Amino acid sequence: MNILAFGAHPDDIEAQCAGTLAKCAARGDKVTMCVVTDGRGRPKGDPDQMAAIRHQEAQESADVIGAELVWLAIPDGKLQVCDEHLHKFVETIRRAQPDIILTHPQDDYHPDHRYTYQLTLDAAQMARVRNYASDLPPFRGRTPIAFYDGVLGMSFIPEEWVDITDFFDAKIEMMSKHVSQMMPDTYDPNFVMPPKDENMFYRMLGLQSGYRGMQCGVRYAEAFIYWKSANRVVPYRILP
Ligand SMILES: [Zn+2]
Repeated sequence: MNILAFGAHPDDIEAQCAGTLAKCAARGDKVTMCVVTDGRGRPKGDPDQMAAIRHQEAQESADVIGAELVWLAIPDGKLQVCDEHLHKFVETIRRAQPDIILTHPQDDYHPDHRYTYQLTLDAAQMARVRNYASDLPPFRGRTPIAFYDGVLGMSFIPEEWVDITDFFDAKIEMMSKHVSQMMPDTYDPNFVMPPKDENMFYRMLGLQSGYRGMQCGVRYAEAFIYWKSANRVVPYRILP
């Protein structure tokens, strides 16, 4: 299987579906992680330098599971549902040839998340259109789109759960590459990562994955819902 995950910012994929991606990689799937914006929004510092640091962190995270990182480099907070950005999504889908696409749910809190949601749906269709202007041939696959959990599980009633108990450590290891996001405010090259039990991000991942795990009778899980639309439904399960 080819698995393609879109995340608006570096670390969004890790927070919501990295355990599932690690499990997919372990069964031999080709995993592509597409980070849409460059994450220059935080921590405080020179925006270009912050973007470069976040690119490096995202690459180190993808390397944990041998995933391919696609870095679209749209400035953080500048994502729009427009032709220019749609084109980047279409090209990503045509290159990755996914059997399933993972993306943000519909009404998550951040505009970049919501626009990523919309662009994913739009691009999945335009990637099929023969005469859409692109250097790549159309992608004619029947590709389900799964929405991963909302941040903190808000407004999200799952339809499918993936047991990530054996891959929770990998999820944490991937998240831990995003050292800059643990910094309280200003970028500090000498920052030392706080221990896990004092670290808000670790606590958040443990609580959310533990809660979803409890719902389905395992220790840790990640949760998904599906887009019910023409060309997007298959009569079998793709996620592990
Ligand atoms: Zn985000």
